[in-house]
Amino acid sequence: MRIAIIGAGFAGLGTAIRLRQAGIDDFAILERADDLGGTWRDNSYPGCAVDVQSHLYSYSFAPNPDWTHVYSPQEEIWSYIRRCAEEHGVTDRIRFGHEVVGADWDEERQRWLIETTAGDVEAQFLISGMGPLSHPALPDIPGLESFAGTCFHSARWDHDHDLTGERVAVIGTGCSAAQLIPEIQPRVGRLLVFQRTPGWTFPRRNRRITRLERSLYRRVPAAQRLARARQYLYRETIAFALQKAERTRFMEALMRLRLRRQVRNPELRSKLTPDYRIGCKRIIVSDDYHPTLTQPNVDVITAGIREVRAQSIVTDDGVEHAVDTIILATGFGVMQVADPLRGSDGVALAKRWEPRREAYLGTTVAGYPNYFMLAGPNTATGHTSALLYVEAQIDYVVQCIQHLDREGLGSVDVRPEVQAAFNDELRQKLNGTIWTAGGCQSWYLDADGGSSALWPGYTWQFRRALRDFDAGDYRTRGKAGSTTTNDVPASLPRL
Ligand code: NAP
Repeated sequence: MRIAIIGAGFAGLGTAIRLRQAGIDDFAILERADDLGGTWRDNSYPGCAVDVQSHLYSYSFAPNPDWTHVYSPQEEIWSYIRRCAEEHGVTDRIRFGHEVVGADWDEERQRWLIETTAGDVEAQFLISGMGPLSHPALPDIPGLESFAGTCFHSARWDHDHDLTGERVAVIGTGCSAAQLIPEIQPRVGRLLVFQRTPGWTFPRRNRRITRLERSLYRRVPAAQRLARARQYLYRETIAFALQKAERTRFMEALMRLRLRRQVRNPELRSKLTPDYRIGCKRIIVSDDYHPTLTQPNVDVITAGIREVRAQSIVTDDGVEHAVDTIILATGFGVMQVADPLRGSDGVALAKRWEPRREAYLGTTVAGYPNYFMLAGPNTATGHTSALLYVEAQIDYVVQCIQHLDREGLGSVDVRPEVQAAFNDELRQKLNGTIWTAGGCQSWYLDADGGSSALWPGYTWQFRRALRDFDAGDYRTRGKAGSTTTNDVPASLPRL
């Protein structure tokens, strides 16, 4: 293969489809699991659904007139991904059971030597579609391994385990917990929600998309494009608010009022009231999360967890809570995607990224030629569909490969000074945004308080920055054996 794509989720499959559409056919997808779907395969917890409207959370090149809900559930999204892969003829390019565990750039041969759990492969280009949220983070709680009951992560739901009538602990109160808690509460005996930081919530107002609407979208595709455009514009107005911490006061006041209506008990309400700015963490989009926490079989526990014992959880206030099952809704480790990569000087990308992840346009990293990351650093979004970003990246990567092919070149490596200038500008733009000045901790933030996760502007600014591949930003080399390199001065980063 000439192009190796890691991961058969939205990003990896989208890349495969766009490559085929561009007439580039010599690629394969290396997928660690035995099925496709990425995060929508892995996250099958009860209530799992998208929190961005489905018309917007789909490929622009594969509109789906048949979404049943404004926010469609996981199974429907998973089938959509499968259908797109099949209809665009990329399913048979997936090599299942191929987990990439190492990848070294061979400067001499200008090839990635890729080590997988099913054998080694070589490729000229390595494109990572490993989502940043693909490695479940297990909390470092003393005694957790000694728990004698059932314990699993929200992204590895144990469907064989029946929670009916049990005493269930949910650790974590992020977006995953907020979706699964209302689903399991009616059937468990007792639900203990261990909350470290309360989340802001925002109305969801999900509804079925009527048969009439679906038929309209099928017959008049422009109507669906219009619905998507409307959702896109609405979400860009949220980006306006998030860019400056002081712009969110009005939204916070409204959401406090909503909390007051949903949670009458002042003590519980005070536990659930965030002390940081809305948007600083991912906002929980839900109408039933807070009302569920008011139910008689639910306790919200805010004391820190001291230890886990064989049949209980002990909190810092000395109280021992007996539980049968622990659900870890504790999020994901975003750094692990870098673990396998070693660049032209043999340095592991995870090491190069200490203390913070840095890339150029969220896609390329100096010293790692012909390596492209989808959903890389500073491409996450707090307000809209991640696919808008991923698609911009895919088109950029396809352009880059076409450029090399056209010019008969072997590799590109982003110029370190271009990457550094780009990241300086990003840091400046992030200053004063809700994420860096909002007073919270989350996977969006680095240890030094900056953010190597989020794009600080509007979606259209990201798309504009990646619209045209500019070879001047890169050092290029001729094919293996050739000594051709380019010395074109670097252009300035364009944000
Ligand atoms: P998350 O947002 O990272 O939340 C993890 C939760 O676990 C937080 O409440 C965190 O508390 C808590 N936690 C972590 N370690 C802990 C520990 N040692 N002790 C106690 N509590 C601990 O993870 P997530 O809810 O899985 O969501 C991750 C991301 O997935 C979201 O930001 C979103 O981008 C995405 N997501 C999307 C959807 C969707 O509908 N599209 C749904 C779910 C998730 P602190 O807040 O104090 O750190």
